[in-house]
Amino acid sequence: MARCSVCGSPAVAHIRYQRRYLCERHLIEYVESKIRRSMSRYKMVRPGYRVLVPVSGGKDSATVLAVLSRLSRETGFEVIALHIDLGIGEYSVKSKEASMKAAGKLGVPLVIVSVKEITGYTIPELARKAKRPVCSVCGLVKRYLINLVAMEIDADAVALGHNADDLAVYSMKSFITQDLSNLPKLGPKTESIPGLAVGRIRPLYEVYEKESYLYALLTGTPFLHEECPNVDFNSMENRLKVHINSLEEEKPGVKITMLRNMAKRIKDYPKPKLPISKCKHCGLLSSGDECSFCRLTRRITGRPLGPKAREAVRSLTSSLQLAPRQDSAYKS
Ligand code: SF4
Ligand code: ZN
Ligand code: ZN
Repeated sequence: MARCSVCGSPAVAHIRYQRRYLCERHLIEYVESKIRRSMSRYKMVRPGYRVLVPVSGGKDSATVLAVLSRLSRETGFEVIALHIDLGIGEYSVKSKEASMKAAGKLGVPLVIVSVKEITGYTIPELARKAKRPVCSVCGLVKRYLINLVAMEIDADAVALGHNADDLAVYSMKSFITQDLSNLPKLGPKTESIPGLAVGRIRPLYEVYEKESYLYALLTGTPFLHEECPNVDFNSMENRLKVHINSLEEEKPGVKITMLRNMAKRIKDYPKPKLPISKCKHCGLLSSGDECSFCRLTRRITGRPLGPKAREAVRSLTSSLQLAPRQDSAYKS
């Protein structure tokens, strides 16, 4: 049996790119120290920040929530969790349960927003009505609602659960399709646009999927093991994942090297050409006079639902006991 390279106890993980084995305790410490280092290297949060953590019920967002709730006490920032109920049958029921259990166990306040309550339709129904792929509608609605909740609670950052494996795949896809202006959006941190959008941070930027899974498992953070039934295993992302994983097998650490170099070069990539403006209906970020959520819901229901979503989220978040803001000068 392999033994931990630090203390000699039975090992639970082999960290190939560091040529070490780790036991349960040292794996947990290792993941936390990696996240702490990334958060400091990329200046993700400051004392007094309010951070919104969207939780899907899966392992990665569970890990982000668990580590951030712990670091928040050390560093003095505030964490609020958000779950979006997508209405994808049994999967959404279980995802909501897992998110509630994780937030409850960690003592983090949780906001639950239901897509059906806001739009009158579930995600699969919206996709059918719009005649669009379900994941494209789901992505659009989730991005909109996450930003909306972050704006309504005056968050300083949204902490996403993308791990190093996800980000290596998304970046390679952007290279292959030559969508280079997408690369800056995949970095460890994106800045806020005052009054329109809250910036994003990726605490798992240098954490592998397997490490994130083991962290959630070994710390007993509740998460859902099954995936959304709409995951397309034949998508370009999933095929790329197989290729990049075999490269990682041959050259352990190649993903982290790529992501670190990418983070250094982010300012050199082309900026997105879309103009930044304000939606005439809901007042949030848009590339024209109407944001994509208002356009989608207007086409399906006859009226743009951004303003209704804002009202619903305002009332859902009004009962949160938020820490008083001390210093808005931190806001980027
Ligand atoms: Fe949404 Fe598609 Fe992800 Fe399912 S797989 S949660 S439908 S984006
Ligand atoms: Zn050990
Ligand atoms: Zn809008």
